[in-house]
Amino acid sequence: CGIVGYIGHREAYPVIIKGLKRLEYRGYDSAGVVLYEGGDFKLSKTKGKVSDLEAKAEKEISLTGKMGMGHTRWATHGVPNDVNSHPHFSNSGELVIIHNGIIENYEPLKKELINRGYTFKSDTDTEVLVNLIEDVQKKDNLKLGKAVQVALNQVVGAYAIAVMDKKKPNEMVVARLGSPLAIGIGEDEFFVASDASPFIEYTNNAIYLEDEEMAIVRLDKPMKVRRIKDDTLVNPYIQQLQM
Ligand code: GLU
Repeated sequence: CGIVGYIGHREAYPVIIKGLKRLEYRGYDSAGVVLYEGGDFKLSKTKGKVSDLEAKAEKEISLTGKMGMGHTRWATHGVPNDVNSHPHFSNSGELVIIHNGIIENYEPLKKELINRGYTFKSDTDTEVLVNLIEDVQKKDNLKLGKAVQVALNQVVGAYAIAVMDKKKPNEMVVARLGSPLAIGIGEDEFFVASDASPFIEYTNNAIYLEDEEMAIVRLDKPMKVRRIKDDTLVNPYIQQLQM
């Protein structure tokens, strides 16, 4: 399982597909991609290999967009099939998430969300998380980063996640607990991935998030890294990777 994200001046799709291929060694049963362009998300996902995803995405969506993310899934909740593949949208379609790991308390959270009117397309724990983020965001009119933080504080489990919001064309929120997450820092561009292999050819500056840290990765303002639990700002250590 692996995650890849891109935000910057390049076409995101080739970066994501190449990156997913570099992460194939981690093992997976399904793959998916979402691209952001012109205020909309374009999604394609499938059970099978990254090469199956490429064939499907070429037919289904236009492959342009300078922000996007991709995922390879190792199913833990819900069988490997197209619907359970990531990315997953929230009910409004405004948020989209990729996730590696397990949300252990997804059942009570899902019940609560169903009581509040949410519906679910997949059997995944991940779709519960993206709707929880949407719910806390709407309840208190929170910005994306804050909503992710509040939601993650209600979650028991392990995760590396990346989330995009339709209202935020230049922003991606990422977080980690127990699953690895690296951020590659280029010139006016950022890469997000399970390890540095998807972005080593573009930059040798990387931040490895620690457990219980989240980052708001964005083009128009400096990146911020915070502790999820107590909200303290972290001064991240930028590693120089060997090319
Ligand atoms: N628990 C999630 C699922 O089953 C993510 C699995 C993964 O790490 O790829 O969809």
